[in-house]
Amino acid sequence: MAKRRIGFPRMDNYNVALKYLVETGCGCEYVMAPPMTRKTLELGSKYSPDFVCAPFKYTLGSMLEMLQSEGGVDAIVETGGVCRLGYYGALQKQILRDLGYEADFIDLAEMGKHKLRGYYAAAKRINPAISIAKAARTLPDALKAVRYIDEMEGRVRLDRGFERQRGSMKAVFDTFLQEISSAKNRKSLDAAYQKASAALSAVALDKPETPLRVGIVGEYYTVMDDFGNHNVEQILGYMGRGVEIHRWMTFTHRNLEYDEQADLQTIAPYVRYSMGPTTSATLAGAIRYADAGFDGIVHVKSFGCTPEVDAMAVLQNISADRGIPILYLSYDSQTGDAGIQTRLEAFYDMIDMKRRKQP
Ligand code: SF4
Repeated sequence: MAKRRIGFPRMDNYNVALKYLVETGCGCEYVMAPPMTRKTLELGSKYSPDFVCAPFKYTLGSMLEMLQSEGGVDAIVETGGVCRLGYYGALQKQILRDLGYEADFIDLAEMGKHKLRGYYAAAKRINPAISIAKAARTLPDALKAVRYIDEMEGRVRLDRGFERQRGSMKAVFDTFLQEISSAKNRKSLDAAYQKASAALSAVALDKPETPLRVGIVGEYYTVMDDFGNHNVEQILGYMGRGVEIHRWMTFTHRNLEYDEQADLQTIAPYVRYSMGPTTSATLAGAIRYADAGFDGIVHVKSFGCTPEVDAMAVLQNISADRGIPILYLSYDSQTGDAGIQTRLEAFYDMIDMKRRKQP
């Protein structure tokens, strides 16, 4: 019997870990959503309400591309989220139904209301013949793959701007992702990690002792997704003499290890309550980067992201109190590469000049 074809909307590089989970743990075929392009965004925007934030449009566009791909998809899984994204699945499902698509739509935000029972039901919808025991055994391996991805990507961010041969770290990372994508067991996941780790260590760098350092903070989806933020990390990393880029926000940190109470203590001089899914992390990150003597901070968010709009007012106070420049980037479907490039260039010139003037 043909395996069920399951797809998730594209989200940065995590789809390779989902592929592992779906194929090894659930016994289904994983439909890899095509890489995000301008066309994905146009497709998503065409059928989205104007006022929704960009992640809705990106994920809807990605779903439509899977549905329109050769072979199509039997079930789409929407992972939901802790703010409006939690309601977006219901709307996306309705939009797809109105467009005539009948693939099963599994909204994990809906399942999550019933905790374990809900996830059990979701697993059974993904594959009615699923072995829950096998899926449960595979889940820790898939999460390990996510941790590996986050670690490797973090290393690329830190050092990419200082490569002797431009692009060598990305080449290692891309090979690593391909190997994770074709891994069938924990041993091959570990082997891909070890190999990439050694290869990244072997990349020749010309890195000064005290490089310019910039911390990137902001809204969950846009800050992590290279397409969604127009490759802000790579562009800034490669500027001028090179920039060491730091970003705390990853799936691992936010979803597997996060302690919001600790962040609330850090930001207590400015804010008494959590203001949204990523605001405490955004503000605490900014304080940590400022106190560690970073040269600047870039705040990244989707246009219309209410929680991160609220964070911006507080970031301005942090910037003034601690004397650290912050660049605010807001993205929507109309944002163009040239505008982002120009603003990053101006920001780089400013932090570079500031550094050169330091005694
Ligand atoms: S965090 Fe912001 S951008 Fe993300 S779904 Fe919520 S409102 Fe939209």
